[in-house]
Amino acid sequence: APLSAAATTFTTCPYCGVGCGVKASTRPDGQLDVAGDEGHGSNYGKLCVKGSALGETVDLHGRLLYPKVDGQRVSWDAALDRVAGGLRRIIDQHGPDAVALYVSGQLLTEDYYVANKLMKGYVGTANIDTNSRLCMSSAVAGHKRAFGEDLVPVCYEDLEQSDLVVLVGSNTAWCHPIIFQRIAKAKEARPEMKLVVIDPRRTATCELADLHLPVKAGTDVWLFNGLLSFLHQHGVMDTGFVERHTADLARTMAIADNTAGDVRSVARACRIGEADLLEFYRLFARTEKVITAFSQGVNQSSAGTDKVNSIINCHLLTGRIGRPGMGPFSITGQPNAMGGREVGGLANMLAAHMELGNARHRDIVQEFWDSPRIADKPGLKAVDLFKAIEEGKVKAVWIMATNPVVSLPDADQVKRALEKCELVISSDIIEKTDTNGFAHVLLPALGWGEKDGTVTNSERRISRQRRFLAAPGEARADWDIICDVARRMGYSGFGFEDVHAVFDEHARLSAYRNEGSRCFDLGGLVGLGAAGFDALAPVQWPVTASGGTARLFEDGRYFHADGKARFVPTPVRAPAHAPDEQYPLILNTGRVRDQWHTMTRTGKSPKLADHIPEPFVDMHPQDALLSGVRAGELARVATRWGSLVARVQHGGGIPRGNVFVPIHWNGQFASDARVGSLVNPIVDPISGEPEFKHTPVRVEEF
Ligand code: SF4
Repeated sequence: APLSAAATTFTTCPYCGVGCGVKASTRPDGQLDVAGDEGHGSNYGKLCVKGSALGETVDLHGRLLYPKVDGQRVSWDAALDRVAGGLRRIIDQHGPDAVALYVSGQLLTEDYYVANKLMKGYVGTANIDTNSRLCMSSAVAGHKRAFGEDLVPVCYEDLEQSDLVVLVGSNTAWCHPIIFQRIAKAKEARPEMKLVVIDPRRTATCELADLHLPVKAGTDVWLFNGLLSFLHQHGVMDTGFVERHTADLARTMAIADNTAGDVRSVARACRIGEADLLEFYRLFARTEKVITAFSQGVNQSSAGTDKVNSIINCHLLTGRIGRPGMGPFSITGQPNAMGGREVGGLANMLAAHMELGNARHRDIVQEFWDSPRIADKPGLKAVDLFKAIEEGKVKAVWIMATNPVVSLPDADQVKRALEKCELVISSDIIEKTDTNGFAHVLLPALGWGEKDGTVTNSERRISRQRRFLAAPGEARADWDIICDVARRMGYSGFGFEDVHAVFDEHARLSAYRNEGSRCFDLGGLVGLGAAGFDALAPVQWPVTASGGTARLFEDGRYFHADGKARFVPTPVRAPAHAPDEQYPLILNTGRVRDQWHTMTRTGKSPKLADHIPEPFVDMHPQDALLSGVRAGELARVATRWGSLVARVQHGGGIPRGNVFVPIHWNGQFASDARVGSLVNPIVDPISGEPEFKHTPVRVEEF
C-alpha cells in the first residue's frame, strides 16, 4: 500500500548497474506510475523497458510476509532467536569460520555495511561473500593491481565526450540500455564518433557499431596484448605520462610482444579477419579520446583479471586516463555491486576500500568499530564457500537477497551443499524460490519501494532508494534484521536508531584516519542527520566538503605506495575447459533484454514476458543440423555438470561452435531450466570469478 497517494518519490531503479533515477507516484486507483527522473545525472529522465515496468512488479503475489522456521509461521522473536542461537552454538563448537554469509548486489549499502561489520568485526571471520563475485570481481582485482585501489576512473559523460567507444564483452543495448542510449545519442550528434564492439556474438549492440570483431571466445588477452605491442611498436605512447605515473612497463611489454606476435598471428588466434583487426588497432592508435568499456564477457572468465589488466595496460601506455572522454570503464552488472565493494562486502576485502591483508587498515577499522576482534585473513569466495558447505567445514549459511541454487555455477552442487548444511537461513522478499526450499529459517525482507538506503552505480554515483510503500506483512529491512541478530548474539555496536545512522557510520569510517591516503572518502557526507540523508542528492564519490568527483586520476596520482599505476604482465591463457568429442560446442550464458536475474520480480510483468516468453538455446543452423535438433523444437543442453531442456532458435548472431542460453529461467518458471546447473565451476585464480562464458556443451534431441 502507498504511504501517500499524492506524493512523488524520487528513488533509484533496483535492476542494473546503470542506476537510473526514478520518479514513483501512486494513482488514485492504487496503480503505481513510474517515470525517469529528469534531474538524475545518470539517466536524465530516461528508463528502459524493465525500469518502466517496475509498477507491474510490486504486488504481493508470492511474497514472503512472515518469518518461518522449518516451514511453520513463527514470531520474529522465535525466528531471530533460532538464527542467533544457531550461529552462536556453531561458532562456539567449531569456531567463527564454520559460519558464513552469502549476500547480494541487490542489498542496499547500509544492509551490506552491517552484514560486513557483524562478520569481520564481531564473529571474526571474513566468510562473507556476495553474488557480485559472479559479475565484477575480476574488475575489482584488475583495478587493484593497476591503480592500487578498486577505482573506476570515468563517468557516463566521458562516453559521450569520447571519439571512440570500444565495448568489450558487453551487450550494452540489452544489459545496460540507458548507457547504450547515451552512446547512440552522442553518436547521432557527432557521426564521426566511432563504436567498436568486441564480442563472439553479433548482438543487438552491434547494430550501432562501425566495426564488430567476433573474436573467438576467450581470446581477449591475446587481442589487447597485440594492441599494446602494436601501439608500442608504432610509437603511440605518452612517454611523459608513462615515466611520471607508471611502473613495470618493460616486463609487461616483454610478455605482450612475446605472446602477441604480429597482427596476422593475433588475427589468427582470435579467428577474425586481419584487415578488421588492423582497422581496430589503427583506429585506437590515432584516436586520443578512447573509452574501453567492458562487462561480463571480460569478467566472467578464468582469465578475467588478466583480461581487465590487458585493457588497462593500453590506456596507461597512451596516457588515456584521467582526462575527459577517455579511460577504461568497468560497467557493473547489479544495482549495488559498487556499494558492496565500498563497505567491503567481499571475502577478500575489509571495509571502506581497506585491505584485510594490511595491518594498518585492520587497526583503523577495528579501532573505529571498537570491535572485539577483526578478521585477518580472506574468507571463502562464493564457489569455494558452497564447496566448503558440502564438505561440512561451513555448517551455517545466511543467504540474503539471492538465489544461488539457480545462479551459481555447478548449481546442483549448491543444492547438495544446502541439503547437508546444518543451518540455512534465507532473507528474501519471495517465499518460494529454488534456494528457499532448502532454508530452515525464512526471514521476510522489505523490497524495492518499501526500504530506505543508498546504492552506487557504475560511475560511482551514490543515489537514494526511498520508501513510498508500506511494509507488507511483517517484513523488515535487512540492516534491521542483521542488527537484531547481532544484538541477540551479545554484540554491541549494532544499536543504530535508523538507516541514516548506518550510512553516517559508513561515511565516518571512510574518512577515519584517511588523510587522503585512500581514495574512497565520503567525508563530505558525514553528519547528514535524518533530514539530510532523506534529501541526499545523487553524488559521485569521493565526496569532500566541496562535493563529488566525476572523474578520477586527473592529478596523475594512483594508490600504490609510490603513487604510480602499474602495468601488469598478462600472459595468454586458454579457457580452463576446451570442447571435445563428447561436448563439442561452447556454452555462453547471459541476460536477455527484459528480464532480471532469476525473474522473481520481472517474471511478474506480462509486458516484460512479451519480449521472450520462455528459455531458449540459440545456436548456429549448421551446429543444429550436426546436433540433430531443429529450430522451434525442444532440445536437451548437456554439460559434464548438468543439463536442461530449452527450445532451439537461430538468433542469427551466434558463431559456429557456440551456443547461448539465458541465465534467468529457473524452477519457478520452467521446469529443469536452471542454467547454473550447466556451468563449469572453474574460477579466475585471482578474483574467484566463475567462467560463465566458456563451458563445453552438447545439444541433443529431447
Ligand atoms: Fe533500470 Fe538499468 Fe533500465 Fe536504468 S537501464 S531503467 S537502471 S534496468
